[in-house]
Amino acid sequence: MYIVMVASECAPVAKVGGLADVVFGLSRELEIRGNSVEIILPKYDCMRYDQIWGLHVTRKDLWVPWYGGAIHCSVWFGFVHGRKCFFIEPHSPDNFFSRPHFYGFTDDVTRFAFFSKAALEFMLQDNRRPDIIHCHDWQTGLVPVMLYEMYQGQGMHTQRVCYTIHNFKHQGVTGEYILSATGLSRPAHFYNFDRLRDNFNHGALNLMKGGIVYSNFITTVSPNHALEAMHTDQGYGLGQTLHVHRHKFGGVLNGVDYDVWNPEIDPLIPCRYKAETLDAKYGDKGALRDRLLLRNEFKPIIAYIGRLDNQKGVHLIQHGIFYALRNGAQFVLLGSSPDPGTNNHFWHLKHQLNDNPDCHLEIGFDEELAHLIYAGADMIIMPSLFEPCGLTQMMALKYGTVPIVRAIGGLVDTVFDRDYSTRPPDQRNGYVFHQSDAPALEAAMHRAIGLWYAYPEEFRQLMINGMKCDYSWCRSGQDYVNIYDYIRCK
Ligand code: ADP
Repeated sequence: MYIVMVASECAPVAKVGGLADVVFGLSRELEIRGNSVEIILPKYDCMRYDQIWGLHVTRKDLWVPWYGGAIHCSVWFGFVHGRKCFFIEPHSPDNFFSRPHFYGFTDDVTRFAFFSKAALEFMLQDNRRPDIIHCHDWQTGLVPVMLYEMYQGQGMHTQRVCYTIHNFKHQGVTGEYILSATGLSRPAHFYNFDRLRDNFNHGALNLMKGGIVYSNFITTVSPNHALEAMHTDQGYGLGQTLHVHRHKFGGVLNGVDYDVWNPEIDPLIPCRYKAETLDAKYGDKGALRDRLLLRNEFKPIIAYIGRLDNQKGVHLIQHGIFYALRNGAQFVLLGSSPDPGTNNHFWHLKHQLNDNPDCHLEIGFDEELAHLIYAGADMIIMPSLFEPCGLTQMMALKYGTVPIVRAIGGLVDTVFDRDYSTRPPDQRNGYVFHQSDAPALEAAMHRAIGLWYAYPEEFRQLMINGMKCDYSWCRSGQDYVNIYDYIRCK
């Protein structure tokens, strides 16, 4: 099969969160299975160019229709750790992708609507006719809309679209101008409730809704979140639309790329280990302490790695830091937020805790440090308010770092409580709490810290149970192949 991924992120070149890991990991798995996969990305100025091999211009003259005129683009090609990637570079005074960050600008909808259009134009003009176009999140929600409404008539009639929603919170809600910009025009047609009209703001268009309506199949990133999105407020207003399209909607658990996230072979950690040689993990714990200037005491290290977004339960993360420090644990945080207010808040907290030898807060994005933390920490907390899948807990499990998570979204599908799960004891791999409040988090942390001190052998067994879980792309890759086959035959 010939598959083209159209996405706004791909690890490690352009990574903000899990979307990037999924685009890379799934593409790799699909290639291992004998498919041909290409990835189309924007050519951001702020990408990690050191992670691209053989970058060169492959098409100098891609003209992308835009607002009745056209924008001149170049298309670059390069390998990202073996994946074939095309990067679209528009030459226009809008500087869509020549910015210091990936997202967070007032014209984000315009930037990614343009990117979606450019990706289709590239396929059209370059005679690329994939069997499957796989799009991701609101940024590429217009791809299936434009494919069906415009590009089918220009010869792209056999392409089928799979659309994966990683986060329902951000939907790309916008105004009528986007129809003139992209050439979709016909406001009366698209403002129909069955098409792109936003379910709440009737004067607005919703790009993610367009993706749902026009795709051949929609997935979200865990089976439990698929149910939540359809039946609870976790669909952020799209539950009803999903219900209408439920015959082509399902949850596929994300996988982790164990070639990158694997303590047995990880080049970014000083001591490699597996379940049978778990003691080497303590070498990484020492290295983590040395790097972050934490004191070397007989204490567990509890960590948080992730975006500092309300979604992640920032108030509970902060609470967890102080609870850990008061209860015989050390705490390490690695995170950042696009919101300056939240960042400042954590900088303030960092200054407040600066002299504490049991705590280190690293405000920023640091992929290498993330590897060392997964390896060196004993536990990780994820008190998320919503969590479509969550990769952090799956990565932590692989490194024998015990997750303490709230029972929400994909966390329900992957973490099973040591004391209360109905699963057999050898499948229990962490701690789970239900309410999104401080007492619930404290109770779970209390159980985890208590086991670490009082029953080290049992804690070790919990670590090993986690390391034995298989959350690789192998199974989920097959699920996606089945979906692609299904929509091709329809
Ligand atoms: P989300 O997609 O909501 O951000 P996930 O748990 O699915 O959350 O994926 C988060 C990914 O991003 C993981 O690979 C995690 O290690 C990584 N990550 C998040 N924040 C940082 C950071 N500040 N530094 C390094 N890696 C980070």
